[in-house]
Amino acid sequence: MLQANRISQITVLSEPALAAIPDIVHGFSTRRAEHNEFTVGPLGSENPAVPMNRARFLDAVGMTGWPLLKLKQTHSGIVRDFRDTLAASQAVEGDAAITALRGAALGVQTADCVPILIANRQARVVAAVHAGWRGLAARIVENAVNEIAGAYGVSPENLTAVIGPHNAVCCYEVGEEVVAAIGEPDAVVRKAEWAKAHLNQGLAGKKQLLKAGVPEAQIFVSNLCTQCRGDLFYSYRREGKRAGRMLAVIGILP
Ligand SMILES: [Zn+2]
Repeated sequence: MLQANRISQITVLSEPALAAIPDIVHGFSTRRAEHNEFTVGPLGSENPAVPMNRARFLDAVGMTGWPLLKLKQTHSGIVRDFRDTLAASQAVEGDAAITALRGAALGVQTADCVPILIANRQARVVAAVHAGWRGLAARIVENAVNEIAGAYGVSPENLTAVIGPHNAVCCYEVGEEVVAAIGEPDAVVRKAEWAKAHLNQGLAGKKQLLKAGVPEAQIFVSNLCTQCRGDLFYSYRREGKRAGRMLAVIGILP
């Protein structure tokens, strides 16, 4: 279960099972700092607080001064393998990032979509995945694990994965076109009191990790809902286009 820590006035969430892996550093940001407005995105926004807050967040999780390898997230199934830090100055299109570089941060920003952090238990390679329903439909989670295995020769059995806070099944209404696109009946819940089907995005992501070969005992799913917990998170569905963003980061110590 994710634990909350207050570091330099910023509330950061971390998963003990991931923190326990030597040399792996990670964290999930929240909106809580001095005030309830600690946004770290969207990327490229004109809000001057965004770059400052990103640097503060990296500092709080133990990545002071590390380059942040950024994705231009487009709800795709595209995986990017970072072999150098050139991309730190420019976002590249994709929704999953993997790297074996040390002292470099991978990050994905979310405000209802699912952030997933993955680490090899020998700290050889890490991944950060942004999975909303479109990304899930494009099999972004499964693609990321397959790429780790293919490019680095790391068995999925040696991976630990954390599915972070997202718009959970309590709130996440979807249309029938989404139900069809996801193709994961177990992750769809229908109740008489609900007007539409609800999607369990966390379970849909977990199913892809399992299918790719990550053992169930090494998958940790947060039940924190971004739409319910306005005290902790931004939510696109609750706040609309002007919603701030959270950042989930992972990296390997130099
Ligand atoms: Zn909820």
